[in-house]
Amino acid sequence: MGLCPFHQENTPSFHVYSDTQSYYCFGCHESGDIFTYIMKTEGLSFPEALGVLADRAGIKLEAYHREEADISSVLELAEKFFTGSMKGNAGGAARAYMSRRKFTPEDLARYSLGYSPNAWDSLTLYLRSKGIPDKAILDAGLALEGKYGLYDRFRGRVIFPIRDITGKVIAFGGRIIDGDGVKYINSPEGPLYRKRRNLYMLDAARKAIREKGRSILVEGYMDALRLHKSGFTETVASLGTSLTPEQAGLLSRYADTCFICYDSDSAGQEATIKGMYTLAEHGLRVHVVHLPRGKDPDEFLSSYPPEKFEALLRSAKPLIMMHVDSLRPALQNWKTRRTALNALFEGLSRLPLDDVLQYMGSICEAAAMTPEVVKSYLLKDSQPVSADREKIPDAPVMKHNDELEAGMCALLWRSPECRGSLSLDEAMSILGNESARETAAAALTENTEGLEELWLTAGETEKTGLLRLGENFCAQMGCSSDSERFVKIYCALKSGSIERRIAEIKSMPPDKQNADELFALYAQRGLYNR
Ligand SMILES: [Zn+2]
Repeated sequence: MGLCPFHQENTPSFHVYSDTQSYYCFGCHESGDIFTYIMKTEGLSFPEALGVLADRAGIKLEAYHREEADISSVLELAEKFFTGSMKGNAGGAARAYMSRRKFTPEDLARYSLGYSPNAWDSLTLYLRSKGIPDKAILDAGLALEGKYGLYDRFRGRVIFPIRDITGKVIAFGGRIIDGDGVKYINSPEGPLYRKRRNLYMLDAARKAIREKGRSILVEGYMDALRLHKSGFTETVASLGTSLTPEQAGLLSRYADTCFICYDSDSAGQEATIKGMYTLAEHGLRVHVVHLPRGKDPDEFLSSYPPEKFEALLRSAKPLIMMHVDSLRPALQNWKTRRTALNALFEGLSRLPLDDVLQYMGSICEAAAMTPEVVKSYLLKDSQPVSADREKIPDAPVMKHNDELEAGMCALLWRSPECRGSLSLDEAMSILGNESARETAAAALTENTEGLEELWLTAGETEKTGLLRLGENFCAQMGCSSDSERFVKIYCALKSGSIERRIAEIKSMPPDKQNADELFALYAQRGLYNR
């Protein structure tokens, strides 16, 4: 018995039953077995939890693909070689380089930072000495095949092990420390490593992300390490700015708030912002941290204390506001306005309408548009309509709803063409008044000839009165044909029924609201509400 890990308590109510290999909390009623325990406390899927437990128990999982297991053990050996080289004679320059960046030997050990000696085949020779065949070295992405045989992919670089969510090494990144060459290189993708499904340091960060209720997303290895070292252990790196739905899924497992902290140079670029919308689109509340010009998070925290960084997080802007503000100058210049509008609405249209509506005031103000126009842009698949589009003729001055319904009945009654344009279901959905519904139903399903006579003699004055009212209303409309009257009345009624349904949904508790239906209604509203 002990304190429950699933809820806050001071008196133990969490019981573990060794006979049934299960647990139950009398406080919060969480229950399960060893697998659900690891899944819930570590935020893992079942196969991942299985992997963690199998590792701990020293069991090789049968289902584990042979090839992946082979690659995995080669990568483990390589990690040992790299961290050993960092500590050894060959690693002098690398240690000096990291020390200039304020990483102590303890930091290097804690984050398993390694070094790949500046030789052609030192890792390859090491792996061969451990009995690893060349094919496995190639499959693990650690060497390339040249004219004279294998040569190491990583040479003269600080090595960052990239791990999966359970902490297993799946790839390496390498930063050059001196001389010519690409600044950063990575292992190629393979059966274990898929760039789009991975976030650097998520294995080390996931616990903190859950506890703090937020993640911090940075671009590079050094940014992530610097933040971890400064106490922001909820940090992961995307290793690039094109974010994927898979990465959004990984982050949202642990917390639904994400602070994005990219270099000030790349943060405002449209391609980067597109990536941020990918996260927002998949349910994360995205805030964008603004760093001083020319700084990246690593540099910032190398010159300022963590409290200053925490203050930057507090002043981070919600994604929509950041985007609106970054486009403001372009929106106010006629030469760039069209492109800026396209960029803005392309982003906004990927988010749930309700999220966007919260910022309607700022959007309208920055784009110099009325809310109606903004809404029409949002609902037009992000293709802004030209501002000078042809004006649609005004609808009949909105009459009392009863008159509109009566007008519709009169039209259905006298015009076969109008009857042919409206189904019974649709009539029932736009008409609210009971006599109007009955009258319309009669017009649409029965032979109207003689029916009015019958109603008169039967004393159905409400229905006959309704038809008179409708006739008068239609006569006043000043249209040249019944079909024109029909379209106008139909649009007015349809728009009224849409507004009623929207109001109805909006009055429901948020979790009962159907966002898809609401969005469809907003879209329809644009069509009928002229
Ligand atoms: Zn509990």
